[in-house]
Amino acid sequence: MSSVLTQSVKSATQLYEVAHWIGGRVERGTSSRTQDIYNPALGVPQGKLILGTETDLDNAVSAAAAAFPAWAQTPPLTRARVLFRFLEICQARKKEMAELLTREHGKTLPDALGEVARGLEIIEFATGIPQLLKGEFTDQIAKGMDAWSMRQPLGVVAGITPFNFPAMVPMWMYPLALACGNTFVLKPSERDPSASLLSAQWLKEAGLPDGVFNVVQGDKAVVDALLAHPTIQAVSFVGSTHVAEYIYRTGSAHGKRVQALGGAKNHMVVMPDADLDSAADALIGAAYGSAGERCMAISVAVAVGDVGDKLAQALAPKVAALKVNEGHQDGAEMGPIITAESKARIEGLIGKGEQQGAKVVVDGRNCKVPGYENGFFVGGTLLDHVKPDMVVYKEEIFGPVLCLVRVPDIAAAVQLINSHEYGNGVAVYTRDGGTAREFARNIQVGMVGVNVPLPVPMAFNSFGGWKRSLFGDHHAYGPEAVRFYTRHKAVMQRWPEGNSKGPEFAFPQNG
Ligand code: NAD
Repeated sequence: MSSVLTQSVKSATQLYEVAHWIGGRVERGTSSRTQDIYNPALGVPQGKLILGTETDLDNAVSAAAAAFPAWAQTPPLTRARVLFRFLEICQARKKEMAELLTREHGKTLPDALGEVARGLEIIEFATGIPQLLKGEFTDQIAKGMDAWSMRQPLGVVAGITPFNFPAMVPMWMYPLALACGNTFVLKPSERDPSASLLSAQWLKEAGLPDGVFNVVQGDKAVVDALLAHPTIQAVSFVGSTHVAEYIYRTGSAHGKRVQALGGAKNHMVVMPDADLDSAADALIGAAYGSAGERCMAISVAVAVGDVGDKLAQALAPKVAALKVNEGHQDGAEMGPIITAESKARIEGLIGKGEQQGAKVVVDGRNCKVPGYENGFFVGGTLLDHVKPDMVVYKEEIFGPVLCLVRVPDIAAAVQLINSHEYGNGVAVYTRDGGTAREFARNIQVGMVGVNVPLPVPMAFNSFGGWKRSLFGDHHAYGPEAVRFYTRHKAVMQRWPEGNSKGPEFAFPQNG
């Protein structure tokens, strides 16, 4: 069996094997447990993933712990230069990475290239680490005494990532963690794990010392070993809410710093004064791009006042015309869903919505793509007259399904959104600046778009939701990540000149 690192991504004749990356090389580890890696467009296995054990995790942590002292002592500028070289490699070979994503995840090639591009922006931000790590200095806090602060790395830190952005979400974590001087253990999604090994190999080529970046493949067994491992100082997680909450509680109980980003139900409010054409186009891209498998996908359109019927009429033909195909095919707008189970769950939810009284305006169930009849495809689906007590409104569907909810006014829209358990992203479409301003101020959601459907912050601003979309104090990437991956230290210094007045027992009074 070949490794994914040696096989061309275009040849699908032989199953490839995906293993761990420990101490700067591929390691098969100690487990005999494997899991199929599917090509979701074909609906057949294309590779085998070796599922790691507690011992494999421990070996990776040992490699990371051994590499930490030298890496932490490496000047930030030297660390940044490794990331500059990594950035150049990623830029030159982004098509290779994107093709891998399309083949394992299913998203269209242009969308996969977009994923890689957004990941590279985080590396670009991390190359500024000498500037980002600068502390503060206060001269003469008392006579002959100065004080300053510095931020120092934590040690070995870990990341656990979801299937939907197999290259980008790990890049939310490791470029900044490494730039800050930490060493890293990544536990990628078991559905599309190959991007993690390609990244590891490219980091090595860029000059990253062995052991600084490690990958352990696996499922809950590896995650549980990671959460309990005494050497791991901090855990970044991105995935579904019930797992995020578990990671946050368990990691915190083991004394770790944890940031756990969870699921979402993102609303887009369309006001009566909005430009309806651009609102409808924005909804189509935001709801159905990547087949709705994005944590920032819009899954609820909130039509205010009399907008409902007009919006439904504008959306229906566009949804029915969506081009569903294998992700490399020209003109494909949506690829397959990640697994057969996810496809069945999404179709089950559409059925449940129908049963509970929603109107299925466009039905994406039983979608067949010629040449890919066994693929896990679901067509674009539009559900109208959705009510807040329906399962399709309450649950994250994570598929190409848009729910249309009608409310009388902006106050009702804000109340509806603020009552939802999730608070990741939200958007408002309006021509009225006052409405937009009040909306942005009052909405209980972490990322807000005004006439912007997917308000995903750029690399130099941090990313994160509110309520049950994020557990922990820090958002991901940007300046927040520098704080998350470092500890603050305060230093005071005096150089006595032999004029001691003897011991002082009272708190000093400055001045
Ligand atoms: P998931 O929660 O099933 O898996 C995420 C990671 O957790 C994987 O590495 C997986 O191996 C591990 N895992 C799964 N079940 C576990 C368990 N019981 N115990 C311990 N570890 C476990 O998520 P997914 O299906 O891969 O990704 C989709 C979800 O991720 C959606 O809910 C989506 O909204 C969310 N997501 C959120 C963001 C964000 O920024 N908030 C970004 C991307 C994806």
